[in-house]
Amino acid sequence: MSSNGAPPSKPLALLKQQESISSLKPSQLTYAEILALLQGQDDEWLFNRANLATESDFNKQVYLRGIVEFSNHCRNNCNYCGLRADNRSVKRYRLSIEEILNAVDTIAALGLGTVVLQSGDDFKYSVNAISTLIAEIKQRHNLAITLSLGDRKLEELKQWREAGADRYLLKMETFDRALFSRCRPKANFDDRIARLIYLQSLGFQTGSGIITDLPGMTDEILAHDIQRLSEMQLDMLACGPFIAHAQTPLAQEPNGNALKSHRVSAILRLMNPGANIPATSSLDALEAGAREQALKRGCNVVMPSFTPTNVCADYNIYPGKNLRQNPATERLKQICQQIQNHGLIASFSRGDSKRTPYVSRH
Ligand code: SAH
Repeated sequence: MSSNGAPPSKPLALLKQQESISSLKPSQLTYAEILALLQGQDDEWLFNRANLATESDFNKQVYLRGIVEFSNHCRNNCNYCGLRADNRSVKRYRLSIEEILNAVDTIAALGLGTVVLQSGDDFKYSVNAISTLIAEIKQRHNLAITLSLGDRKLEELKQWREAGADRYLLKMETFDRALFSRCRPKANFDDRIARLIYLQSLGFQTGSGIITDLPGMTDEILAHDIQRLSEMQLDMLACGPFIAHAQTPLAQEPNGNALKSHRVSAILRLMNPGANIPATSSLDALEAGAREQALKRGCNVVMPSFTPTNVCADYNIYPGKNLRQNPATERLKQICQQIQNHGLIASFSRGDSKRTPYVSRH
């Protein structure tokens, strides 16, 4: 019996007859099945299967990534994001290369295997400055580098790959063209998809994702988003719930739902074996414990922030983001403890995607 009391639909019942998780192929979840699962028709089955699939891919390991959010300047005006250019009440900051390297040194000293460099779409950092930063990190440390710098030029992405960057994360937020245009008035839908395909062709481990419950997003749109996202054969897939930010045009809209986001990551897990799926921090901003719970529902990555404490609260993409007092080492310990409490193992390895054979440039 399903969670809403209705008997499972025929497609789901058929799906349940699959003998083992390894027999599930991406194509085996149809649009109708995805929609039924999104609507909570069989959470127990979905979460159990997603957890089994995660365990079979990653052996209970949860990959840790240290993230440095090095600038909150942004030229874009995304209607959901607190860092949008028109938000004049943000205290803007830009870390120097030196400050970024200090944060990276901390991440390496603590033994983590990956650093994620993220910012608003801040073009003040030249292509060469970022290339030099990548090369310097590679010189100093044996770290995988993930970039999440937004819509930069194709030549720039190529130069960064050549400088040694390993991964790039660029969330579509939604694959629905009309909803995308409404939420991201200054961005171009086709260009963003083209960038993702180009990143893949450069040999980056490439990631994208969606914001669940974006105002205007229906379950039908979300089901299509999951299909489109899965068709792209990505190495990293991220989903997190929408959280209304007071200084944005979407301030009055309702927050998203943690359970819906969990369903999406669980479905993505079934459709994308071997891909890395983070338990996003927006889950915790919404509901205490929701991020940890996601680790038992298809997610296998956690990204603690190492942005310096004097600026981290200003990386306020949504309320509740980066609110913290205690130092990085203590927070890392706490996260490892939470992971252990769930019977999982905190992994300090690079944690490459198991989806495609990966060639490091270094
Ligand atoms: N500027 C870069 C990096 C953005 S990272 C880029 O555009 O790719 C910030 C991520 O936070 C976004 O991709 C988005 O998925 C998420 N985000 C922003 N505002 C949000 C909100 N209000 N609620 C939930 N997620 C949000």
